[in-house]
Amino acid sequence: MLTEELRDDAAKYLMQTYTRQPISIVRGRGSKVYDLEGREYVDFVGGIAVNVLGHGHPDLVRAIQRQAAQLIHVSNLYYTEPQVKLAQMLVDHSFADRVFFCNSGAEANEAAIKLARRYGHEKHGADRFEVITMKNSFHGRTLATITATGQEKVQKGFEPLMPGFAYALFNDFGAIEAMVSENTAAIMLEPIQGEGGVHVADRDYLKALRELCTRRDILLIFDEVQTGMGRTGTLFAYEQLGVKPDIMTLAKGLGGGMPIGACLAKESVAAIFTPGTHASTFGGNPLACTAALTVCRVLLEGHVLDQAKRMGEYLAKGLADCKDRHRVVREVRGLGLLQGMELDIDAKAVVADCLARGVLVNATSERVLRFVPPLVITQRDIDKLIETLTAIFNHRMVAEKDVHH
Ligand SMILES: *Cc1c(COP(=O)(O)O)cnc(C)c1O
Repeated sequence: MLTEELRDDAAKYLMQTYTRQPISIVRGRGSKVYDLEGREYVDFVGGIAVNVLGHGHPDLVRAIQRQAAQLIHVSNLYYTEPQVKLAQMLVDHSFADRVFFCNSGAEANEAAIKLARRYGHEKHGADRFEVITMKNSFHGRTLATITATGQEKVQKGFEPLMPGFAYALFNDFGAIEAMVSENTAAIMLEPIQGEGGVHVADRDYLKALRELCTRRDILLIFDEVQTGMGRTGTLFAYEQLGVKPDIMTLAKGLGGGMPIGACLAKESVAAIFTPGTHASTFGGNPLACTAALTVCRVLLEGHVLDQAKRMGEYLAKGLADCKDRHRVVREVRGLGLLQGMELDIDAKAVVADCLARGVLVNATSERVLRFVPPLVITQRDIDKLIETLTAIFNHRMVAEKDVHH
């Protein structure tokens, strides 16, 4: 439910960049959120793959409260312990040797693009600047990252775009091999395209990309903003796909809801960033880093990753069964708790139906439903989702038949 006042004031005072669902969420617990009237919703959106520990996780709440009382922000003119500890934690559990912190996914990708260009310039000369990205990708909403994003709809009206980008078909090695030249500084992709409709990169394709990049000293950048932090059942998706990048970006789940992004790189690449080459006022502040450190600890110490893996399989199976029972479901794709369901019908209408039945889901394109719940989602929550989808699809079938009679 939503009060008229809130709806009208939002319409009056906010720039109208979003189409919002007609509810006002006031609190959350685990995998559930509650609206103004106290109505419960099972959360399969998770703040768009952000709330990996769910809502109100006691360790996260306590850590944020303590740190807020002690020190929120001082800038990177000084040392703060949470930032260094978080960097060490990420380095200890990834391919990377060093980390740069910022505040969002787009900024993490900006850092990655700048790092790749500077690496190209220093190692190979000023002509080495091009970044090849994928069609149907998503890398953020800043000017460089909408240019990196291989979708016209996010670029339209913002031209001129950034020079130095080219687009290849995802999962097509031949296409990219033909595009690589002396100008190519980096190849950047999501191991699983999230916003683009949940498409998983093939292992052989990634392996071939890795070999190509190594052979020609082209940097391989994985945008794990959505796939990182346990989403797919391992801390990072690349661990399951058998290929290590040179640079990786993180954000979304990293802070469990606190805004924080990170650009990670191996030493030979990270060394290119020297004092003054890149910066962020808020980047890596102690409050955000304390939150992220807590997220990392809970993921690595506890059973959350195991649960994410098990629940990911359970969700995939539930959705696949649903596909077998309903003709409107074309395909189910994904890895772990990043799952997509492609439909024959408008996904937005199904999102609205789910909301009315107490389940939050979202649509990434006209016909794809995406499920990115907190990693603490339970079997019961998943059963509720599948029952809800089943009821909606059955109801629609009956309605369709009525129209035809
Ligand atoms: C969400 C997303 C981004 C952008 O993150 P913001 O924090 O919104 O800037 C970039 N890349 C991928 C893969 C994403 O899913």
